[in-house]
Amino acid sequence: MNETAPDAKAITLRNYIGGEWLEFGGETLESRNPATGELLNLIPLSSADDIDAAVTAARAAFPSWSQTSPIIRARALFALREVLTSQREEIARLVTLDMGKTFDDAFGEVGRGIESVEAACAIPHTLKGQTLEGVARNVDVESFRQPLGVVAAITPFNFPAMIPLWFLPFALACGNTFILKPSEQDPLASRRIVELIDGIDEIPAGVVNLVHGAHDAVNALLDHPEIDAISFVGKASTARYVAQRGVEKGKRVQALGGAKNSLVVMPDADPELTAAGVTSSAFGAAGQRCLAGSVLLLVGTPEEQERSLGVVVDAAKQLRTGDGSDPETDVCPLVNPAARESAEAAVADALAGGAKLILDGRRDGGSGGAELGPTIVDDLDSDHPVTRDEIFGPVLGVVRAPDLDAALEWLNKSRYGNAAMIFTADGGHAREFRNRVQAGMVGVNIGVAAPIAWFPFSGWKDSIDGDLHANGDDAVTFYTRSKVVTSRWR
Ligand code: NAD
Repeated sequence: MNETAPDAKAITLRNYIGGEWLEFGGETLESRNPATGELLNLIPLSSADDIDAAVTAARAAFPSWSQTSPIIRARALFALREVLTSQREEIARLVTLDMGKTFDDAFGEVGRGIESVEAACAIPHTLKGQTLEGVARNVDVESFRQPLGVVAAITPFNFPAMIPLWFLPFALACGNTFILKPSEQDPLASRRIVELIDGIDEIPAGVVNLVHGAHDAVNALLDHPEIDAISFVGKASTARYVAQRGVEKGKRVQALGGAKNSLVVMPDADPELTAAGVTSSAFGAAGQRCLAGSVLLLVGTPEEQERSLGVVVDAAKQLRTGDGSDPETDVCPLVNPAARESAEAAVADALAGGAKLILDGRRDGGSGGAELGPTIVDDLDSDHPVTRDEIFGPVLGVVRAPDLDAALEWLNKSRYGNAAMIFTADGGHAREFRNRVQAGMVGVNIGVAAPIAWFPFSGWKDSIDGDLHANGDDAVTFYTRSKVVTSRWR
């Protein structure tokens, strides 16, 4: 279904509903290449009627798909894994074109998405129930997990291939039918993944549906009575809104929100691991990752703190900012010029309050107007928005603490709890940090503490609304409900 080649003239994308790619005649939104500003596509702003059509198709496909053997459903996912692996490079190129990140980063992202498919392939094992024999005379108890019905995923711009693949494989593996509403800012990777699914005979029409759109489409998904569960990833404010409205409408919701992650550097940290770990975390993907470290928490005496800061600043100065399709680029553009302006405004506000710029990444924005180089801000009020709020750009705020206790005290006041990283050569400090830090994903000498897909993506506090995370056993629990049968046979 090639209604457009990515480099062809911009045309309107289509929704994929019930196995058909449907022409769209309604209102659209422009989507541009962040590196060049080039117009790529027109994105349908789907209406409540479009969402209803997708739900009707998904509902019609549910009885048969939910009754399909988990072994056959797993085989369908093996087929998906094969096509994704064969098209990994092409999907990664679409991510770079549409979202801006470097090709290597995009290639890694698609690999992470494939990993979720692989984890979901274990469904005949992970879906197994439990039994307890003889709880009373001739009485046995057994529990099963059954699919929910029609489930929808609403995804953000920053991982346009991986995050749809956090949800789609597990939802299908558990026997649900699925509707994807990708970010309106960069839906090309989702579109390509669904094209590949369209070619897989083992996934019947209606099992996977793709609906483009923005806020109205999200509201229609949240309000539709025939949708049983919503998986969401995006800003904390949107996550809270989605969770509240979805739950009000009787749905099961997992809503993963924003983050503000600290990189704690102890005086004994290995300088090489620290330089590579901190800079890749803070400036990779231009800081547009929910696991990005955006606070550098320097621990030790003032001299030790200066030494650690020097290691990071020297490494950051080596990074090249530019078009993500250029293999020489380390720091890609932000997703659009407005995102760059917003990050720069936060820096300007800090400077107006007396902060000091240790590394100034501000530039003319590049040809797409969205570039900002690595920026490091010191001497901040330790509760300034640069240290407490999500900037989602390549901006690293410096905070100082005399010892690990003080560092943990400051860090644990964060409203977010997605990730926290420590760099140290001391196992005791690492253990203490791991135990006491209030974050669900912890890195020790690792800059981006992303769990593999067999574990849940475990944010805490305002980084999630809901109890069950994406991936791992949580995904199977989220996409099923348990049924407990008590039987007596004489
Ligand atoms: P966003 O909240 O703007 O958009 C996410 C989705 O919600 C999109 O599909 C969008 O169409 C929809 N949406 C946005 N505003 C809406 C509104 N007012 N009403 C209805 N729908 C709305 O997020 P984004 O900017 O695309 O993504 C970046 C954010 O995602 C960051 O905050 C990042 O930390 C977060 N994120 C979190 C995780 C995690 O695991 N916790 C992972 C990746 C990204």
